[in-house]
Amino acid sequence: MSSAEPNPSADTPAKPERSLNFIEQIVEEDLRTNRWGEHVVQTRFPPEPNGYLHIGHAKSICLNFGLAKKYGGKCNLRFDDTNPTTEDTEYVESIQEDVRWVGFNWDGLYYASDYFDQLYLWGEQLIHEGLAYVDSQSAEEIAKQRGTSSEPGVASPFRNRTVAENLDLFRRMKAGEFPDGAHVLRAKLDMAETHLIMRDPVLYRIRHAHHHRTGDKWCIYPMYDFAHGQCDSIEKVTHSICTLEFETHRRLYDWCLEKLRIFPSRQYEFARMNLTYTVMSKRRLLELVKGNLVSGWDDPRMPTLCGLRRRGYTPEAIRAFCERIGVARFNSTIEMVWLEDALREDLNRRAPRVLAVLKPLKVVLTNWPAGQVDSLDAVNNPEDESAGSRKVPFSGTLYVEQDDFMETPPKQFFRLSPGREVRLRYAYLITCNEVVKDASGNIIELRCTYDPASRGGNSPDGRKVKSTLHWVSAEHALPTEVRLYDHLCRQPDPNDVPEGVDWKTTLNPNSLEVISNAMLEPSVASAAPGSKFQFERLGYFCADTVDSQPGHPVFNRAVTLRDSWAKAQKKDGG
Ligand code: ATP
Ligand code: MG
Repeated sequence: MSSAEPNPSADTPAKPERSLNFIEQIVEEDLRTNRWGEHVVQTRFPPEPNGYLHIGHAKSICLNFGLAKKYGGKCNLRFDDTNPTTEDTEYVESIQEDVRWVGFNWDGLYYASDYFDQLYLWGEQLIHEGLAYVDSQSAEEIAKQRGTSSEPGVASPFRNRTVAENLDLFRRMKAGEFPDGAHVLRAKLDMAETHLIMRDPVLYRIRHAHHHRTGDKWCIYPMYDFAHGQCDSIEKVTHSICTLEFETHRRLYDWCLEKLRIFPSRQYEFARMNLTYTVMSKRRLLELVKGNLVSGWDDPRMPTLCGLRRRGYTPEAIRAFCERIGVARFNSTIEMVWLEDALREDLNRRAPRVLAVLKPLKVVLTNWPAGQVDSLDAVNNPEDESAGSRKVPFSGTLYVEQDDFMETPPKQFFRLSPGREVRLRYAYLITCNEVVKDASGNIIELRCTYDPASRGGNSPDGRKVKSTLHWVSAEHALPTEVRLYDHLCRQPDPNDVPEGVDWKTTLNPNSLEVISNAMLEPSVASAAPGSKFQFERLGYFCADTVDSQPGHPVFNRAVTLRDSWAKAQKKDGG
C-alpha cells in the first residue's frame, strides 16, 4: 500500500464521548471490583410475546444489547411466556424480526417455558423447606387479606399446612386434578411486611390453557415473580435490567434466588420511555388493532417498530434516538420531535431527492416549442456527492403544487401569482400570465411563459427571482397514491383524560390523509418497496411495503422536513 493512499479510519472523527449512564457506571464498577469473577457481562431482553414491539422496547433493546456489546458480554433474547392465554407464535416471530431490524443479534434464544420443569422443581424445593404452601382460598379472599401499607395482612387459614399436605396438593395441581382458581402456591414470608409484595406472594396458579409452545403439558403456570429471576439466574444474567414498576419486586427477586441458592443475578430498574402524542402499551395498541381504529400493528401511525418501519423509519434513526434520550431513573415523556428529528437527520444524509407534486395544478408554457422534451440534470443528494445526478424530463405542460399559487397573494407570498416570475427547480424561470378557471370559478390551469435563456434555473441577467418551486412534467408524471400522517393522538398525553373518559377520545381524526392523485417524477416508478426519498420541499417519503405494486409504488410520508406541528400549534394561539 502506498503512503499516498488515504487512511479511511484517520478521517473518521472520533465519536463525541458522552458521560456514562447509571447502568454503565454500575457495570464498570462491577468490572473494577471483579464482582462477577469469570462471568462476562450477561444481559437479556425479555419481551412477553403478547403483542408487537414498540419504540419503548427499542430503548430496552438498545440498552441490553448495547451494554453486552460495549463490555464484551452477551445478551439473550428471552420470551417471557408464562401467561398462556395472551401469548402467540405470531408475536414470537415478529419480535425476532424487529430485534434484528433494530440491529442486534442475540447470543442465546430462550423461552421462560424452557424452564417450566426446573421452576416446578424449585416450587417443590420451597415446600420441602417450609418456605411455600398451598392456599385454597379464592383470589378475592387472598387480595382482601393482603392489608394496606398502614395495616398488616391477615394470615391464610391454610398457612400452616404440613409439608406432606402441601406437596400432595401441589403435585395434584400439576396433575390437573383441580379447576382454575381452586388452589395457588404461595411463598411463606411475613404478612406484616411493609412491602406488600412480600406478604406471601402467589408463586403458581392453576390455568387450564393451551400454551403456544408447551401445548397442554402444563395446567399450572408460574407467576412473573417466580419465573423472571430464576430464568435470569439459569442464564447467568449478571445485570437484569427492567423498568421502574418492578422496583418493588426486587426484594422478592432476591429472596427467590437466595432461598433457592442459585446464581445471584442482580436486578436494576430504569425509567420507562413515553412519547408525546401516542400511547405505548401493548394493551392499548391492541385495542386500536382490535377496534379497527388502525389498519393493523404495522399501521404507519402506530409507535410499533413494524409501524415505524413501514412509515419509513430506519434502524439507524431509532438507535440514534435511543442513544440521545439516555437512560434515567425517573419517569419522563420524550417529545415526539426528538424521534422525528433523528429520522430527518438520517434521511437528510441518505435519501435521494426527487420531484413530486401532491396537489397538482396544471401549468401550460405558451411559448414552449410544440412537442419538445428537455432532459434536465437534477442532483440526487446535495449532502452526498457520490449519489450523482439523474435526468428529469421537462415539457410544455407541467404540474406545480396548488399551494404554490395565489391569485391575490398577501405581502409575504413570493411564490407564483399573476405577473410573478419564479424558478422551477433544475429547469427554467417562468412567469404567470393568465389564470384559467372552470364554470364554477375554480382555478384549473395557469398559462405561463418560460425564459429559454434560463435553462438550469439561472437568472440570465441577474434579475431577482425569490422562489424556487418543484414541478413534474405532466405527460411523464407517475400518478400515484400518497399518504400523509399526523400524530395518532391530538393531545401530548393521551392518558390525561377525566375519570370515566376513554383515552381513545383523544385519537386524532385527521391522523391519515390519503392523496389519490399525486404526480411523481417518472424515475420513482422503479422504486423498490421500502425505499426512501426526499420529495423536495415536502418531506421524506417511503414506498409502502404492503400496497406498492411493481412499477407503481404507493408512498407514505415518514416525516415532514421541519416540525410543522409545533408551528401550527403556535399559529392557533396554542
Ligand atoms: P407493555 O406495557 O407495552 O406491554 P411490557 O413492559 O409489558 O410493555 P414486555 O414485553 O414485558 O412489555 O417488555 C420487554 C422489556 O421491554 C421489559 O424489560 C420492559 O421493561 C421493556 N420495556 C417495555 N416498555 C418499555 C418502555 N416504554 N420503555 C422502556 N422499556 C420498556
Ligand atoms: Mg408485560
